[in-house]
Amino acid sequence: MAWFKKTRKPIAPSAEKASRVPEGLWVKCPGCSQIIYNKDLAANLSVCPKCAHHFRLTASERLRVLFDDEWTEYDRDLTSTDPLRFTDLKPYKSRLKAGFEATGLKDGVIVASGQIDGIETIVAAQEYAFIGGSMGVVVGEKITRAIERAIERRCPVVIVCCSGGARMMEGALSLMQMAKISGALARLDKARLPYIAVLTDPTTGGVTASFAMLGDLNIAEPKAQIGFAGPRVIEQTIRQKLPEGFQRSEFLIEKGMLDLVVDRREMKAVIARALRFMGAKGMSPASAPTTTVTAPETATEPATQS
Ligand SMILES: [Zn+2]
Repeated sequence: MAWFKKTRKPIAPSAEKASRVPEGLWVKCPGCSQIIYNKDLAANLSVCPKCAHHFRLTASERLRVLFDDEWTEYDRDLTSTDPLRFTDLKPYKSRLKAGFEATGLKDGVIVASGQIDGIETIVAAQEYAFIGGSMGVVVGEKITRAIERAIERRCPVVIVCCSGGARMMEGALSLMQMAKISGALARLDKARLPYIAVLTDPTTGGVTASFAMLGDLNIAEPKAQIGFAGPRVIEQTIRQKLPEGFQRSEFLIEKGMLDLVVDRREMKAVIARALRFMGAKGMSPASAPTTTVTAPETATEPATQS
């Protein structure tokens, strides 16, 4: 007889999940730990009704928040050719494929034109779920083309930043996008057209170091992490404890790095007002046309409409 051996099987934990709530019906707010009904959250633009925690939005949700109705998407099919044939833990090609499967996008940004409170505007929105919203050649090219399109049409540009920075897997080619986009923004500035940068959580690395900080107005969402290097890296380098709230919107506006911190629910109205102030011509919402162009499935070039 085995005295010290468990001859009986221990009670197995039940294979069933403890929670029977269908997944995706409720979410727990990381800000205040409240349980929020998903539909309520969506109706509130994914801002917690209790503590105003801003949940992350996808690129297409961003466009939906900003545009009045339909929009026209551009350069949807541009895709990376993996110029360095890069492999880290896994090949870059398979990371691209995973990003594509997770988001339905070919790369980490959506570029579209539409109306913001009646003002014809070109908007680029970064997609964090696509390799951390990183900026490679495709993102750089799409944003550059967006700015050039805005110059052609004489309309303002809004870029919603949400990115871990330049894309490591494209090396120096990613870094070159910083200069390329900045150059295009300089031409936009010369054409006297407004550019508003919207900084959301997170905006870091090469994106912060280029177009995210080049807006005529740099507007951030509350409590967004905005910085160049991550706080851990900085702490290890300077061997000092960083102050509370370091690299958050509220900290940065205090230091003069931002112009405004705006709640997402007021973002569209603030942008529209700022664009009007900066001279963007737009129809009053009442006189805006009712016929609009829907986003074409595969168009690389827009159906040229008005
Ligand atoms: Zn909350």
